[in-house]
Amino acid sequence: MKDYKFIAGALCPQCGEIDSIVLKNDDSEIKCVLCNYFKKKDHNQIESIRIVSDD
Ligand SMILES: [Zn+2]
Repeated sequence: MKDYKFIAGALCPQCGEIDSIVLKNDDSEIKCVLCNYFKKKDHNQIESIRIVSDD
């Protein structure tokens, strides 16, 4: 997982877990470490990922 970093507070749209979404270091793709959710970043922003703020 060295090529990926966790997105703090990100909510997985598939399994609903928080802090399970990782972003590739070159920002080309995201995925969930708990389920098989995977999405490539194209020209469009990833709209399905919501950040749940703790504060
Ligand atoms: Zn998930």
